[in-house]
Amino acid sequence: MPYKKILIGTHNKGKFKEIAYLVSNKYKKISPSSMKIPSPRETGKTFKSNSKLKANFFSRFVKYPVISDDSGLCIKSLNNRPGIYSARLAKKHGSFLNAMKFILKKLKLKKNRSAMFVCSLTYKSSKGKIITVEGKIKGTISKVIIGKNGFGYDPIFIPVNKKITFGQMKKLIKIKMDHRFLAFQKLKKKIRI
Ligand code: IMP
Repeated sequence: MPYKKILIGTHNKGKFKEIAYLVSNKYKKISPSSMKIPSPRETGKTFKSNSKLKANFFSRFVKYPVISDDSGLCIKSLNNRPGIYSARLAKKHGSFLNAMKFILKKLKLKKNRSAMFVCSLTYKSSKGKIITVEGKIKGTISKVIIGKNGFGYDPIFIPVNKKITFGQMKKLIKIKMDHRFLAFQKLKKKIRI
């Protein structure tokens, strides 16, 4: 029986599922939407500042720990864009599908398709102690949008040493290797979670 609560500070369903899977079952995992908590404005200039900003924002609503992430896709030949603007790019284009089409078009004439998913993960304890860690996974952008699993930009990201996109992978395979997982492993070295 879970006896402690933790707020998983994200309104993104894909991220929520991944973080909820990583956090141990001794916690009851609460979503901000279940408490009608809104989203903060992401005014930071880095993944780290945005992830801290989110943890600080969400912790104002609860008396228990909070875990938040800021993440995104950095594409080398696009000057590491969309980066912290990954969610905003999809919003601007109306959907992730359109944003992925936009990216593939931009990369059409580029030789270098290297990319990286980055996740800055922040844990804030009920006493206000903050720990921030970062996970990165390198890979390449596929030539086509492929795969129905995962979320966001998963159907165009092929992680290093693999031949298929995150979107083509079984959910658990992706969750156990991605940027969020790698950040979480670092967090687990610092706290029991
Ligand atoms: P934010 O952290 O709320 O600013 O959103 C990050 C954006 O990057 C989201 O729109 C995600 O869809 C995208 N993103 C972050 N992590 C992943 C991932 O693991 N797979 C696919 N897209 C991701």
